[in-house]
Amino acid sequence: MIIGILKEPEGEARVAFLPEAVKTLIDWKLDIWVEKGAGVSAFSPDEQYLAQGASIHSRDEILSKADLICGIQPLKQSEIAQTRPEIVLMGQLDALYNTDLTDFLLKNNKTAFSMELVPRTTRAQSMDVLSSMATVTGYKAVLLAASMLPRFFPMFMTAAGSITPARVLILGAGVAGLQAIATARRLGANVFAFDVRQAAKEEVLSLGAKFVDVEGATEDKSAGGYAVEQSEAYLQKQKDTIHEHALKADIIITTAQIPGRKAPQLVEERTVRSMKAGSVIIDLAASSGGNCALSQPEQTIDVEGVRIVGVSNLAAQMPQDASKMFGKNYLNFLKLIIKEGQIHLNFEDDIVQGTCVCHQGTAISPRIIQCVT
Ligand code: NAD
Repeated sequence: MIIGILKEPEGEARVAFLPEAVKTLIDWKLDIWVEKGAGVSAFSPDEQYLAQGASIHSRDEILSKADLICGIQPLKQSEIAQTRPEIVLMGQLDALYNTDLTDFLLKNNKTAFSMELVPRTTRAQSMDVLSSMATVTGYKAVLLAASMLPRFFPMFMTAAGSITPARVLILGAGVAGLQAIATARRLGANVFAFDVRQAAKEEVLSLGAKFVDVEGATEDKSAGGYAVEQSEAYLQKQKDTIHEHALKADIIITTAQIPGRKAPQLVEERTVRSMKAGSVIIDLAASSGGNCALSQPEQTIDVEGVRIVGVSNLAAQMPQDASKMFGKNYLNFLKLIIKEGQIHLNFEDDIVQGTCVCHQGTAISPRIIQCVT
């Protein structure tokens, strides 16, 4: 069976498998076909793939002959049309929101798995690309902010006077937020964090940050540990509290998301305009509507000396470890669907079912079925 690894599109530096992961696939007696230069942006040249037993092919050859293609970003529709009828496509397809692609896969009787659909359960933790990539993102967001800040992070007592520690406010203490807290603390900042889920409070405190409490949040136990939409009154109370904290902050990192909804707006324009010049806001939710009223997706803007960075794919800026983690998640998932060198899809398994967008044109994941009906 041939597994294809293609070069990701422009702007995506990660690769689905690094050479070290290819070695495992070869041990499983699979043929690994790698597109020329697929790993170069993740600092893995073709020779390293060859050394692990893979072979190098053209993109067209892989598209037309592979049995399974594992990627990160989705393929173009014209490329999907080139694949074999029995192909199994895998990637982070954003299948619930990229409805053009999902419709195309369904209409063309394809079989596809979308890794962001992996259920957030204990058994699926080792396959959870959302958590892996959020870990990279939270870490990188702090480094980016630190490099832009015209001040130190830690406290310094020097012969040239004392430096007070930077003050960092993290909005949303999920996987990315908690990693951002841990990273900012390691750099010596004074960290404050806020989340609507009370469960996040203990985790924030255990990382040495202070929890900003805004009472009266709505929680829903059936939401699988995720946040739910809040009332207008609560959101306003929250914005007022954030405003007070923002006046003293040097950095705000926003990570607040609600699955399937526009990101909640937490930082108002008046808040940005009241912040100290030189402060930095990193809005990780910019592509889903933004947590900051002024952020623009994939742009850095300057509002009276406050720089706002709207960024959605920070994981691509750390392609080596991000690819390593993505590949490990893939290997753990593939163990569920590859037996003795062949694909066996068992839709009784909740992880296989939950992650499968469609099988030969039939929607499989309950979340996709809900979307298409
Ligand atoms: P996410 O990316 O959907 O959201 C990020 C954070 O934003 C969440 O903590 C959410 O509560 C918060 N948020 C939403 N609205 C907000 C608002 N108005 N104000 C402030 N914060 C707001 O979430 P995520 O990081 O992917 O995961 C969230 C939670 O899901 C985790 O902390 C955990 O409980 C659970 N989870 C479980 C598993 C597992 O069991 N395998 C894996 C990952 C996550």
